[in-house]
Amino acid sequence: MMVFGLEGTAWNLSAALVNENEVLFERNATYIPTKGGIHPREASQHHAEQMGKIVGSVMAYVRERDLRIDGFAFSQGPGLGPCLRTVATAARTLSLRFRVPLIGVNHCVAHIEVGKWQTGAEDPAIIYVSGANSQILALRKRRYRIFGETLDISIGNAIDKFARTMGLPHPGGPKVEELARSAKNYIPLPYTVKGMDLSFSGLSTAATEASKKYDLADVCYSFQETAFAMLVEVTERALAHAEKNEVMLVGGVGANKRLGEMLNIMCQERGAKFFLPPEKFMGDNGSMIAHTGLIMLNSGAITPLPQSYIRPGYRTDEVEIIWA
Ligand code: AMP
Ligand code: MG
Repeated sequence: MMVFGLEGTAWNLSAALVNENEVLFERNATYIPTKGGIHPREASQHHAEQMGKIVGSVMAYVRERDLRIDGFAFSQGPGLGPCLRTVATAARTLSLRFRVPLIGVNHCVAHIEVGKWQTGAEDPAIIYVSGANSQILALRKRRYRIFGETLDISIGNAIDKFARTMGLPHPGGPKVEELARSAKNYIPLPYTVKGMDLSFSGLSTAATEASKKYDLADVCYSFQETAFAMLVEVTERALAHAEKNEVMLVGGVGANKRLGEMLNIMCQERGAKFFLPPEKFMGDNGSMIAHTGLIMLNSGAITPLPQSYIRPGYRTDEVEIIWA
């Protein structure tokens, strides 16, 4: 079985080809905002302009080797409306042109499934942290149940926003991590966990305020320590409640070494095993869509054309995990 996957919910347009065992090919085109954060219309225009080149390179790979594609998977949501529309249009066209099934994939489920595939985690408590989402989940009765999530903005967005006001280029995550390494002092910032849910918006604002008085490296460090401690607290509780003995970190913010280190310490203290996928599978990528499309196709979950409409608010727990 071989599936083509197309991702483009936000900043990265990515097409990939996977089979049961490996990623055969992947090509990416990254949208970098000229100023400010991700602009939905500009991002979708970027994707539309790059679509021919990105999809074309995968199809050239297929043609040269005389391969057969069994399904066209695409990220159906959640994501930015204009971006999703561009991706869905391309995927429908390919599916019709080659008379091969279309598979609408939930982007968050794809982050989780590719993580399991790459790490070998079997049934972990999952911490999914990205530019748009922050959720703590675990599989129960065939759904990735959301045990806790952000009540306002995602952790990635909070870091990027703060970084932007500091004049750092987008995306700010890696730069904030780097600055934090040279910090000398911890500055108390708002720690907001409400039950199992989290809030990052106030933290971002408080960090911006603190930067007027304190050294930037110290503020970056304190931002990370505070936000990550909140995330680890909720993950630890989810691990206990859901009675799992594995933890897996996925999503773009998962590239942060300090977050991985803190989760690893928590897991050691609890006798749980910690799983971290390779970095190229952390941020948005086409391989995760292709891989999830493949397991969906194997279990008969294809998307008829009338059901292929985009789903900007598609929730992780709306998907029945029939392959579990
Ligand atoms: P995604 O939406 O999953 O593609 O993830 C993108 C997000 O990951 C952006 O908000 C980035 O700032 C964030 N990110 C990437 N690398 C790091 C890092 N090393 N530390 C913190 N955040 C990061
Ligand atoms: Mg993502």
